[in-house]
Amino acid sequence: GATLGLLGGGQLGRLFVLAAHESGYRVIVLDPDADSPAARAADGHLRARYDDAEALGRLAAECAAVTTEFENVPAESLRMLAQHVPVHPAAEAVATTQDRLREKRFLQAMGLATAPFAAVRGPQDLAAAAAAVRFPAILKRASFGYDGKGQIRLDAPEGLADAFDALGGVECVLEQRVELACEVSVVLARAGDGEIASYPLAENEHRDGILAISSVPARIDDGLAAQAIEMAGRIAGGLDYRGVLAVEFFVTRDGRLLVNEIAPRPHNSGHYTVDACVCSQFEQQLRALCGLPLGDTRLLSPVAMVNLLGDRWLRPDGPRWQSLYAMHGARLHLYGKREARPGRKMGHLCVLAATRQAALDAALQLDAALSPATDDAG
Ligand code: ATP
Ligand code: MG
Ligand code: MG
Repeated sequence: GATLGLLGGGQLGRLFVLAAHESGYRVIVLDPDADSPAARAADGHLRARYDDAEALGRLAAECAAVTTEFENVPAESLRMLAQHVPVHPAAEAVATTQDRLREKRFLQAMGLATAPFAAVRGPQDLAAAAAAVRFPAILKRASFGYDGKGQIRLDAPEGLADAFDALGGVECVLEQRVELACEVSVVLARAGDGEIASYPLAENEHRDGILAISSVPARIDDGLAAQAIEMAGRIAGGLDYRGVLAVEFFVTRDGRLLVNEIAPRPHNSGHYTVDACVCSQFEQQLRALCGLPLGDTRLLSPVAMVNLLGDRWLRPDGPRWQSLYAMHGARLHLYGKREARPGRKMGHLCVLAATRQAALDAALQLDAALSPATDDAG
């Protein structure tokens, strides 16, 4: 098979590499980290910064096509690569999604609803933003945030100036905090000819701004689910997108869909597709990149996914892991990260069961059984 290039070395990249290998492709990873999960699984590792011209040149020379697993690669690097090799998604689409302000303006131009927001480009915008947005609100850095980092929750306008300073005085978005019924996401793939294959909606639960649990099928009525899939498809079309894309939605208490954000890559809430769908989001990324027909997104079973966060998930050893292997329908995925930190995504598990609720109950039971509080021996 051909050799493909991947920008980024995280777990999403690792899962892409595994899918590519299953289809007979080789993958070369460009990532600055000496010991990244994707690089260790890959066939080659260019250890360099994402804007290193020499490394980009080598990647373009050695690969038939290049994709990304990381939304914060410099769009300029994707542009440089695209002069020599097909790059999907394209630099323009990634650039739109890596800046919250640009992304929200794009959504507005598409006529898609978001939470009310105001731009804070500098201290001079603070007063107008505080007047334009209702509190409680959240101040978010426009770029480089993930897992709820780079965000400060505010109950009243008084703390706004300090929050802006605490975030480094960089460009921000002030967003009204919306009362949520739930959160859902759509993962889809769009091919070069515009064909779209969408996965069933995931219902997502966040803790401390980090995705904790996804379960499928989402508890949302069919009309709203169809609307979310239609909106995500319009977003992909509007970005002239080729590849896998995820759209995070808020479902408001009064039953409206607001777009939270767009991820130009496979998504944590789509990990369930590896265990519960015919074709995973990572194989789909490969197919879109290589111009192959898109795969079957059918859900084979209700499923719940739990993220394994922090420092207790380095290796599957110790008695607590018995409960995981004893659980019917459970599957473990560890990312092989060598260093653990509180809140860091170390792996995930999925449980398949007859209903979403049964899968969720079993996944939560496993999560509790695996937690250190019930196993002091570690
Ligand atoms: P990701 O890791 O998904 O990229 P992020 O750092 O970009 O995360 P957001 O998706 O902006 O963060 O927010 C994280 C979570 O915080 C949301 O999924 C939601 O639970 C909550 N949240 C964010 N903005 C709002 C809002 N305007 N109203 C209500 N809840 C919000
Ligand atoms: Mg985000
Ligand atoms: Mg998010």
